[in-house]
Amino acid sequence: MSTRVRFAPSPTGYLHVGGARTALFNWLYARRVGGRFLLRIEDTDKQRSTDEHTRVILDGLTWLGLDWDEEPVFQGARVKRHQEVADKLLADGKAYLEEGAIRFPLPPGEIAWDDAVHGPISFQGDDIKDFVILRTDRTPIYNFAVVVDDIDMRITHVLRGDDHISNTPKQIALYRALGASLPRFGHVPMIHGPDGKKLSKRHGAEAVGDYEHMGILPAAMRNFLALLGWSPGGDREIMTLDEMVRLFSFEGIQKKPAIFDMTKLEWMNGQYLSMAPAEELYPLVSPQLAQLGLNGNQDAVLKAIAAVKTRSRTTLDVAKQVAVRLDAKFVAFDDKAKKEIAKDPAGYQASLEASLAVLRKTDWTSQALEQSLRALADAKGVAAGKIFQPIRIALTGGTVSEPVNELLYVVGKEAALKRLQAAVNYA
Ligand code: GLU
Repeated sequence: MSTRVRFAPSPTGYLHVGGARTALFNWLYARRVGGRFLLRIEDTDKQRSTDEHTRVILDGLTWLGLDWDEEPVFQGARVKRHQEVADKLLADGKAYLEEGAIRFPLPPGEIAWDDAVHGPISFQGDDIKDFVILRTDRTPIYNFAVVVDDIDMRITHVLRGDDHISNTPKQIALYRALGASLPRFGHVPMIHGPDGKKLSKRHGAEAVGDYEHMGILPAAMRNFLALLGWSPGGDREIMTLDEMVRLFSFEGIQKKPAIFDMTKLEWMNGQYLSMAPAEELYPLVSPQLAQLGLNGNQDAVLKAIAAVKTRSRTTLDVAKQVAVRLDAKFVAFDDKAKKEIAKDPAGYQASLEASLAVLRKTDWTSQALEQSLRALADAKGVAAGKIFQPIRIALTGGTVSEPVNELLYVVGKEAALKRLQAAVNYA
């Protein structure tokens, strides 16, 4: 039987991090075994479900590069089918009517399964109360609709959040009453914030779209999500999508909750920014530049992206750093820079003046710039940093950047000389 898995979001909110992680695990598994990854939109809560949320969820999956193999199934459109199956259970004496609702009794005895993540789990049927499957208004309840849909969609593996463990015995009893074979169940541990509590809005952004707006790259987000509760073994962290597909297994899913660590996501994004060619980042950075009010020419922007991307954590960071290099109006002195200048204002000014004299006569190539400035340091008998750092501060307003010769090159001769002269005059 070929493998069929599904992601079954309720469109009552945006695609959040936990949902995206569940979708990714299912997708990776389907791709790993050559199965199919399906979507079911669980829009039975008519009050809270919206088309807008459905669209945002599908867009989020697409942004993450998770494609699905068949048209999404909308649960709300299947109510007739749910009613038909409930009526059949009633007619077969496997369910009963009570005050107009159809209620399902659990058989006594053990209901157990071998969970793909947690291993053997068991409940006692006697401990679980009979439950309504079809309300008096003939709408199905969640546990019933899910089972009918999963059977009709021929789902072979149900991989979902840990918060559904208590639903599973009820669902298993329904599969049995319907004479259907059980899928393999696996329950993925929750995602917690750094404080050990279940991830929620309190911890900051929860929606996948927020990360896109923060300047996180989809490949970095995907890689980060994959490692929330899964590990390929060893300390491998940065993996291509193909590698993740090759390495993914249920055995690699951990049993403990995963911790969402924003610093790690930014670090990982930084790794992806370093690896990405400037051309690939350009379409992401240029709208952000436009928003900042900068319309630099493509060549200059590409050069600046290449210079700053290894020291950036998000594409927003990249855009800000590019803007600083291409237009002096974006230079703002940070506290560290102010402190360094304040230590020796006269020295700062004198160093810039000496550099200016040399730079005016230097060929504007990265190599020549480095040579001239090092020669200046030698001539003055000071460490090269004493010459480089004032230039860095004057050009960027900060104390860290790419090597100063590259910085000068990216800013360009005319603009760099102008900024340095202004700094000398001002100091
Ligand atoms: N709509 C359910 C949820 O969002 C799906 C649960 C399942 O995968 O069975 O949690």
